[in-house]
Amino acid sequence: MADSVLVVGGGPSGLMAAITAARVGAKVTVLEANEKPGRKLLATGNGKCNLTNMRMDPSVYRGNDTKFIQKVIAHYDQEQVLAFFSEIGLATINKAGWIYPRTEQASSVLDLLLMEATDLKIKIKTKEKVEKIYKELTPEGKSAFVVKTGTWQYIADTVVIACGSPASSVRGASDDVNAFADFFQIRREEFLPALVPLKVKGDFTGKWAGIRTHASVTLVVNGKKIAKDTGELQLTEYGISGIPVFQISRFAVHACREKSLVEAVLNFFPEWTEEELRDELATRVENRPDKSLSQMLVGLLPDKLIPIFIAQLSGGQSGAGTRNLSAGQLSDWLTRAAYRLRHFKVKITGAASLGQAQICSGGILAEELKESMESKSISGLFFCGESVDADGPCGGYNLQWAWSSGYTAGISAAYKGRC
Ligand SMILES: Cc1cc2nc3c(=O)[nH]c(=O)nc-3n(C[C@H](O)[C@H](O)[C@H](O)COP(=O)(O)OP(=O)(O)OC[C@H]3O[C@@H](n4cnc5c(N)ncnc54)[C@H](O)[C@@H]3O)c2cc1C
Repeated sequence: MADSVLVVGGGPSGLMAAITAARVGAKVTVLEANEKPGRKLLATGNGKCNLTNMRMDPSVYRGNDTKFIQKVIAHYDQEQVLAFFSEIGLATINKAGWIYPRTEQASSVLDLLLMEATDLKIKIKTKEKVEKIYKELTPEGKSAFVVKTGTWQYIADTVVIACGSPASSVRGASDDVNAFADFFQIRREEFLPALVPLKVKGDFTGKWAGIRTHASVTLVVNGKKIAKDTGELQLTEYGISGIPVFQISRFAVHACREKSLVEAVLNFFPEWTEEELRDELATRVENRPDKSLSQMLVGLLPDKLIPIFIAQLSGGQSGAGTRNLSAGQLSDWLTRAAYRLRHFKVKITGAASLGQAQICSGGILAEELKESMESKSISGLFFCGESVDADGPCGGYNLQWAWSSGYTAGISAAYKGRC
């Protein structure tokens, strides 16, 4: 069993670790709980797989030790990832830095990884959920890992734990890394949902459900602006979703956990200044003075939002015509409306379920790991991917972490198995 590397989990980080280890000559086995590897990979980027980002600013990553994350990303950066995928046959397309397969099918990425694994004679055992990992001495007096599933027991020189996080409802998503870490007394940060929709306080959310609109979202914690993003905002029955919400959600979830006052300011007209928006409203009133206040907003705001704004600005008097307002009242209304349409403040009460999260923050603490992704306390035990305390925003950054950390763990596990 010399040079044997066992990888727990056949997701992107596990497959990358396996391929890298096998390329330098290790005998590699991957144990995957599902009936097929890479289920979550198939769900990425709405099935299109945003596999990395050419605008790689490693400071976008979050975790308890961001310097550690940056070093690991540098071991195998986006250029190396692109070269790897090109070499195994993937044509890619660059959308403002976000890289996708040219086919826009995540299955192309998985198929090519699996073909490469087959060429390298990597054994992929599916429906093999790892239940226990421990170390023992072999009859030859060598220290080896014993990896137990429900039906079998595997022996390996080194083990790479790549079993992801409990985020998403994709089958196989698990927090099994927690039990493995606890057994070896390796410290970890609690998994919390990140890149997740947020819940909002208020009875109006049921009325706005289904709207998708261009907006910016600013996260405000205890009165301080923390993060901001702009894009397609989705309004849901319980709150807010969409990429701009995902991008700020990690910070909102952590702030809610600390019982801070967490608010989001929705700007429904980020492309206009407040003055420009007020001018637009004033022109509308001037052109059609007989329209009611709510009619005046038709064509400017998504329909379901109009009664919500009117209720806030005019005490619900949607039928009130602008002719009925004095010049002073109208001017005041226009100013308040322009402000409110750009500063719609909502209270965030928490995150949607873990099943609705794309990733988790938390996992094995960087301080427990060497830069090779090996545990500092358990020789020969490696971790990679989402099981480790590193998370990035939308844009291909989480898969880049899976490739970089998987590569690092794979090559280090292979060489460790040899000494
Ligand atoms: C809907 C969705 C869209 C996403 N889109 C993107 C995107 O476009 N770009 C991007 O960068 N990121 C995206 N992500 C995040 C990305 O998918 C993850 O960061 C990535 O899959 C993590 O890879 P991993 O190998 O660490 O874990 P996983 O992909 O979760 O793989 C872990 C594997 O381990 C297996 N496993 C778990 N426990 C055990 C066990 N005990 N024994 C054996 N096997 C086990 C699981 O079945 C799974 O196959 C998205 C996530 C979701 C849910």
